[in-house]
Amino acid sequence: MPSLSTTLERFQPSAIAEIFSLAVRLKEEGQDIVNLSSGEPDFDTEDNAKQAAASAIAAGETKYTNIDGTTALKQAVQAKFRRDNGLDYGLEQILVDAGAKPLLAHAMQAVLDPGDEVIIPTPCWTSYIGMVRLFGGEPKPVSCPEEAGFKLQPADLERAISGRSKLILLNSPCNPTGAAYSEAELKALTDVLLRHEQLWIFADDIYEHIVYDGFRFVTPAQVEPRLFDRTLTINGVSKAYAMTGWRIGFAGGPTQLIEAVRKVLTQSTANPCSISQAAAEALTGPQDFLAERAEAFRRRRDLVVGAVNQMPGLRCSPPEGAFYLYPNCAGLLGKRTEDGTTIGSSHDFAKHLLERWGVAVVPGSAFQCDPYFRLSYAASTAELEEACRRIGRACGELS
Ligand code: PLP
Repeated sequence: MPSLSTTLERFQPSAIAEIFSLAVRLKEEGQDIVNLSSGEPDFDTEDNAKQAAASAIAAGETKYTNIDGTTALKQAVQAKFRRDNGLDYGLEQILVDAGAKPLLAHAMQAVLDPGDEVIIPTPCWTSYIGMVRLFGGEPKPVSCPEEAGFKLQPADLERAISGRSKLILLNSPCNPTGAAYSEAELKALTDVLLRHEQLWIFADDIYEHIVYDGFRFVTPAQVEPRLFDRTLTINGVSKAYAMTGWRIGFAGGPTQLIEAVRKVLTQSTANPCSISQAAAEALTGPQDFLAERAEAFRRRRDLVVGAVNQMPGLRCSPPEGAFYLYPNCAGLLGKRTEDGTTIGSSHDFAKHLLERWGVAVVPGSAFQCDPYFRLSYAASTAELEEACRRIGRACGELS
């Protein structure tokens, strides 16, 4: 057999995908599994988006579009950035891609040279590290401890920046912790970034609309306009608009950077699906349901946080946003399951939870921060109650 790429040896496949597939397989085999491993809202796509897609099909909008998105969708994105973020992008400063994930990948290809360092506050979304490695960069994880609300501290950021630093990935609200930066917290970070002109800033705002308790979402280019020329503001319809399967992400940024990413698109995916682009006009439709959904997620967050804090060996604080909890499971380490297996890590606990109790969660090792695990509460109240019962019993039975 011919050899495979040596680059592939430099990164692990997504641990989330691994747990998710195991949970799906066990379910297919007839086991009763509550799957809290996936980052997907359980709501349906709004009717106006579905109807726009049906109309696009009927009107024969089934051809290639502009590589970086239709003008109609770019206009909707432009209006969204003005309305929600106070950011004024020209149409040439906007780009649409087949999801925020490929957009991040394409943008990394546009800015990274081999050996460039990428600052990644951790815990972080699993894909960041893998993507940076795939495109030749060196991930530079910066630990954001639980005591600091899992948020990057300005002094730690300053220390992490070196002559080889090229890019920082900021994600607020964060997957997996739900931590979100207030304006003052973000300003303290942008003050540091202002001093380091060699750094690009990618702001992954995909969870923007899922925030709680009156939290006001802000994004770096808004908080510090002097960073506008170095910031790519990334967002999409997957999470807030419950459109994960449609695959539409978008970004606003300085013209030169957007042109560079467009160049990458021309030799990779080309345009995102024409029908999905028509559906993404949900961005310009009624927005009231966003707050209603955030409120539904808030109720679920409170339910699960309350339950987790009653479980022996676990603790967690209520996060500001997203739909994840990141409970600390240090109190379970060293304990034994009924069959005598020792829980030595969050991975052991997640495996035990899935195999013995039928609950799928993702171990903290997947997010570069242990001993924790990620639990997604984008599930029905009945499923969450059942999952909490099982996790509580699992913790209670360890000795
Ligand atoms: N960014 C973060 C932090 C995510 O958690 C996810 C999905 O889980 C994405 C980006 C990907 O979004 P999309 O579905 O638009 O590719």
